[in-house]
Amino acid sequence: MTVVGVLALQGDVREHVAALRALGAEPLEVRRPDHLNAVDALVLPGGESTTMSLLLRSSGLDEPLAGRLAAGMPAFGTCAGMILLAKRLVGARPDQRCFGAIDMTVRRNAFGRQVDSFEADLCVRGVEGPVRAVFIRAPVVDDVGPEVEILASVDDRPVLCRQGNVLVCAFHPELAGDRRLHQLFLDSISQEVS
Ligand code: GLN
Repeated sequence: MTVVGVLALQGDVREHVAALRALGAEPLEVRRPDHLNAVDALVLPGGESTTMSLLLRSSGLDEPLAGRLAAGMPAFGTCAGMILLAKRLVGARPDQRCFGAIDMTVRRNAFGRQVDSFEADLCVRGVEGPVRAVFIRAPVVDDVGPEVEILASVDDRPVLCRQGNVLVCAFHPELAGDRRLHQLFLDSISQEVS
């Protein structure tokens, strides 16, 4: 069975673990480098990316995770997780970590402050029917490189993107009780393994 890690330093880890388990994957909470060694793929949850960035350093996960991503480990980043996987950041502290796993510029908190959080029904390429998306202090994708596929947008802003086996979204699929995007991610891992 594919072991899918969930980066468990901060954020909405539990909801991702539940979604993955419900789909038949074997989730593992990743807090230390030895946990990372045991996973085939990784979900980076929503939360607060500046805090996660600090915790990545103090936990010793920073460099090993950079190495796994550079070696092509499949990854799914939601909201703060998308910020961590991006190549370029706007509105972040200069020392905030981003791994450059997907060629995009991400602007933090660009949908506004907490009060500006909202929900939307998205039309997602390759997924039948609307996907409910919960946006919480969501980041905006300012630009994407030529290798990046845009799978869904809101007001012409990309909110769900993929580059190879790296999937990112600006919203929280794990909070809407809809597991189709987790399934999309799991499908990309099994293609890789087979
Ligand atoms: N605003 C958060 C950040 O910059 C992300 C919000 C979220 O993950 N819901 O890290």
